[in-house]
Amino acid sequence: MGRRLALLLSLLSVLVPVSVLAADGLAQASGAHATQTITLTVDATEAPRKLFHAREVIPVSPGPLTLYYPQWIPGEHGPTGPINNLSGLTFTVNGKPLPWRRDPVDMYAFHLDVPQGATAVEASLEFLAPTFAGGFTSGSSTTSHLAVFSWNWLLLSPQVTQADDLLVNASVRLPTGWKFSTGLPIDRESGDEVTFRTANLTTLIDSPVLAGEHFRAIPLSTANPAVEMDIAADSPAALQPSQQFTDVMRKLVEEARALFGAEHYEHYNFLFTLSGRVAHFGLEHHQSNDSRVAERALIDETQGRLARGVLSHEYVHSWNGKYRRAAGLATPNPQTPMQGELLWVYEGLTQYYGNVLAVRSGLWTPEQYADTLAQAAASLNHTPGRLWRPLIDTAVAAQLLYQAPSEWSTERRGTDFYNEGWLLWLDTDTLIRQLTSGQRSLDDFCRRFHGGQSGPPSVKPYTVEDVVATLNEIAPYGWRTFLNQRLYTTDAHAPLGGIDRGGWRLVYDTVQGQRIKDLESARKQVEMGYSLGLRLNDAGLISDVIPGMPAANAKLGPGMTVVAVDGKKFSPDALRDAVSAAKTSNKPIQLLVNNEDTLINYPIDYHGGEQYPHLVRDNAKTDVLSQTIAPLTPRR
Ligand SMILES: [Zn+2]
Repeated sequence: MGRRLALLLSLLSVLVPVSVLAADGLAQASGAHATQTITLTVDATEAPRKLFHAREVIPVSPGPLTLYYPQWIPGEHGPTGPINNLSGLTFTVNGKPLPWRRDPVDMYAFHLDVPQGATAVEASLEFLAPTFAGGFTSGSSTTSHLAVFSWNWLLLSPQVTQADDLLVNASVRLPTGWKFSTGLPIDRESGDEVTFRTANLTTLIDSPVLAGEHFRAIPLSTANPAVEMDIAADSPAALQPSQQFTDVMRKLVEEARALFGAEHYEHYNFLFTLSGRVAHFGLEHHQSNDSRVAERALIDETQGRLARGVLSHEYVHSWNGKYRRAAGLATPNPQTPMQGELLWVYEGLTQYYGNVLAVRSGLWTPEQYADTLAQAAASLNHTPGRLWRPLIDTAVAAQLLYQAPSEWSTERRGTDFYNEGWLLWLDTDTLIRQLTSGQRSLDDFCRRFHGGQSGPPSVKPYTVEDVVATLNEIAPYGWRTFLNQRLYTTDAHAPLGGIDRGGWRLVYDTVQGQRIKDLESARKQVEMGYSLGLRLNDAGLISDVIPGMPAANAKLGPGMTVVAVDGKKFSPDALRDAVSAAKTSNKPIQLLVNNEDTLINYPIDYHGGEQYPHLVRDNAKTDVLSQTIAPLTPRR
């Protein structure tokens, strides 16, 4: 506790260098600590059969030695290092086997006794790459045609106070003929083997490698620092970025530069994976982002609308999350637990500007922004878990909530710091505009908070006091009270002040918006959350009921399967028809439900018809919302 507090205090006041690569390509250590250099050689040639091998040479001194497997993975905000898939672990000293034993308490620690005279231990490791879809970089990351490889999968290191002080000479051998990209600077290439410039442990873990058979690199900006789009797809047919997509991505870079006024990378690579076989998510890095979406996202309109926003979100993280990082998440090494209390800034402000930049660049249309905002606001407004769990607890408990089951998700309340963060920062942005009669906005906050001097990656931690102080510099107001009220109190309703002040209203009618249509079609779901309070898949399996709404009042629950509606075999259309017909009837809707092989009839007394959320203009007010999403740079 004392040591952690001291580390935290030291982090609050200093800039912590993470990439300390000097101009001549040699790495230097930060601070006064002695440096060690590990050699890590990865064999990824068996990636298609989900098996990776590595050899590691670790400088040591004789005596007891503990080696650690990275546990807390930056950006995943939790102890998600995939220790269960570490395999084939053996150690040798001068060719002789060296026994190891795992720490009985810390599952990520391995103890060895290094014999006299030894100067290095050689480790042999395997990573058994998983096939399941969830779990960020611990989830499926390889197919027959591509792989997104994370160095922390195959890396043991001695205990270091600062991961910046441990240097690694890393190399990887790729499947024959595969092309690759990464944010890690390259030293040389020889055949299928790539050797990287010496990097510290922080930078290495922050630099995944995207490699694949079907691969394209597209320059987005050749101005210094260069920005590139690197795409690997599971098929040549999917690898067809249109000129419009390329133009929009170039506009995204221009808009981000205009917003923040500085860049904190030496170059930047969008690592974009198109595959139905890998886990779908985005993970931010200083000089790259690892975004994985549906295989046909570049050629299918629905998949594209659902996928594109991840690119602007992860790009914003290079400023908000990587450069400016919440103090509790700016940990000195991968063994130190992270604290997520400020995720409403780290993720919430990124959700806001990721979506704003999606419109400013053209990744989204203004209509798509309004429609997606309506769906997010409505969903938060139909989350009874907000009556027991304040927003701050969704951030503090993020490391649990990312893994939470989907059943009873509205009663549990999940990682709302993303979308409620969107509402909170919209509330803030519109209030700054109102307080300053349109002279200032949240953009000014970003330039001041995230801008500064351009240069290589560095971390500048912040506290809530820093956020409040900068808001007050932009527009003096009782920001501390404003934030505390939204973070620490419980309220049945989501904070819609930004939508109202923006000149719009959240309404419901019987017509589905594009966002819900897309989600229903891509995820094979039926959205009855705003009518029956019921969410199910297209086979009738109930994923959730919303407490206080008709389906929950009728005692339906998640895990049950609807088999018939008003005497007709269940289908999404049969359910929709029954809900519509009940509007002009006083009879309850009859759902025949299979609950663990017991068939029960549930009457639902609901006559309100289908209900779906939309944003509509309030013509009595100025359209400030449209001002918040207006591009900062001229049209291309
Ligand atoms: Zn994020």
